[in-house]
Amino acid sequence: MHQPYPWQSEPVRQLRAMRTRLPHAVLLQGPAGGGKRALAGAFLQWLLCAHPTAEQACGQCDSCRWLLAAQHPDVLEVDVAAAEEGGEATPGRKLAQIGVDSIRQAVDFLRIGAHGPMRVVWIHQAHVMNVAASNALLKTLEEPPDRTLLLLVTDQPARLLPTVLSRCHAVRHPLPDRAGALEWLAGQGVAQPGLCLDLAGGAPLAALAWNDVERMARRAGWLEMLARADSARVWNEAEQLARMEHEAYLDWIDVLQRWMYDLLSLRMVGRIGYHGDCAADLQSLAPRADVHGLVRFAQRLTEVRRTSAHPLNVQLAVEDILLDYCALFEAQG
Ligand SMILES: [Zn+2]
Repeated sequence: MHQPYPWQSEPVRQLRAMRTRLPHAVLLQGPAGGGKRALAGAFLQWLLCAHPTAEQACGQCDSCRWLLAAQHPDVLEVDVAAAEEGGEATPGRKLAQIGVDSIRQAVDFLRIGAHGPMRVVWIHQAHVMNVAASNALLKTLEEPPDRTLLLLVTDQPARLLPTVLSRCHAVRHPLPDRAGALEWLAGQGVAQPGLCLDLAGGAPLAALAWNDVERMARRAGWLEMLARADSARVWNEAEQLARMEHEAYLDWIDVLQRWMYDLLSLRMVGRIGYHGDCAADLQSLAPRADVHGLVRFAQRLTEVRRTSAHPLNVQLAVEDILLDYCALFEAQG
């Protein structure tokens, strides 16, 4: 396996122990941004390698090279991005989901004989399978063909059908504690490890991705906009966001969610959790809004973030959210 991150020793131990008696279905579950994808890939490489040691793949054989190039004939990856193209969408937004067609293809793939020791279907973000997809998978989980493995990866196991969960061998993938994460980030040369880790909700790989000058500058601009709550600037903001990648939109929702959390927390318990450096702005805004309005707006953001859907028209969606945000502070004059 790849050089595991320091916090992966327990899932690595469990996965290695499976070599002698491999379950038909494995569910790797744990918070996002912790390295599950890298670990799952390394596990498959090791399982399929022609000359593995007790701990890792050789990195040289055909199987290793195919897997590293994402071209292994015995491995089929199912992912949201691919599923979206022909995906079922409701008007106004693209749904982040894995549909039944993707799973039917995967099930057919498992029925064909393997070139090597086994065939593998690797499902990323398994929690976005819709109900029809889950049911299609269930039949295979109940009667798996010989020499096959289903590897499901998720950061939201509670969204999987209980019948799917109960048929998978679960391997928990934890995040490191704060001290361990800070130590690792400092070792990666991250300039502000504490801030990056907070922004990433404690997930070290996600924190590493926050160690980016451009991304931090964008965040600072958003915070300034939120502090002003000036509806005259909404269009400009929305236009800029519409030109950015989906990741920037998700960042923006996260920043807004934490900002709302701080406003509410300030109103209810007089404390600021995330933006201590913006205390003066938050203290001037918080008393101007109605608490119920803040709660409703925060709930709406939670729903927007939960679906992780990309709006078909980002500019309109952002304008809509920001105008409502500004209105929160205008209502009481
Ligand atoms: Zn190999």
